[in-house]
Amino acid sequence: MAVALLVAAGSGERLGAGRPKALVNLAGRPMVEWSVQALRGVAEIERIVVALPAHELAGVPVGTEAVPGGAVRSESVRRALAAAGPGDPVVVHDAARPLAESELFRRALRELQRTGADAVIAAVPVTDTIKEVAGDGQTVSRTLERRSLWAVQTPQVFRRAALERALAAPEDQLRAATDDAWLVERGGGTVRVLPSVPTNFKVTTPLDLRVAELLLAERAA
Ligand code: C5P
Repeated sequence: MAVALLVAAGSGERLGAGRPKALVNLAGRPMVEWSVQALRGVAEIERIVVALPAHELAGVPVGTEAVPGGAVRSESVRRALAAAGPGDPVVVHDAARPLAESELFRRALRELQRTGADAVIAAVPVTDTIKEVAGDGQTVSRTLERRSLWAVQTPQVFRRAALERALAAPEDQLRAATDDAWLVERGGGTVRVLPSVPTNFKVTTPLDLRVAELLLAERAA
């Protein structure tokens, strides 16, 4: 059976809500609760561990277990995994993506099973042209080939052994990692993208919060 790690220990400074992002009210409940609901709708997932800010452990959603998160995202994942028991595969999801639906988690798990990859990650093809800017912060140094670019989301599902190996990377790599699949790639593991939907965006700014409210209200109607 699978276990799910829901990382919710970020400060959410860019949202400017004055409290941790995952606990900000979104369409009538704390943001983290939307992901918990989606995860609970997945029969293959037997256990959900939520990494919360250390001073907010009382906010643990019903039906889940809480651990205090770390200073960086990969440390929050590591702590949640340590508390998750022996489940395999491991689903990692950002609480900051409250619009992920149960079916996306199911598809990711099925794809991991079907392909034998070390990790399967939700992603969408990039629609903007992406340019690299030089160290001066202004001059374009090159334009990337858009056809091969994907914007990566969560869920990211892993074979447990592959994730454990990845999280044993040196501290500087763990600090630099903005997603867990990168650590698997660095160790030579196979990572596959799973076509997802743009609505599974990460709530980062006040604008994102408003858009998420509208979409969740539409879904409820
Ligand atoms: O900072 P960012 O928006 O990229 O965070 C992605 C996810 O990782 C969020 O759900 C956030 O709560 C979580 N996180 C965490 N522990 C940290 C930093 C981020 O659980 N130290």
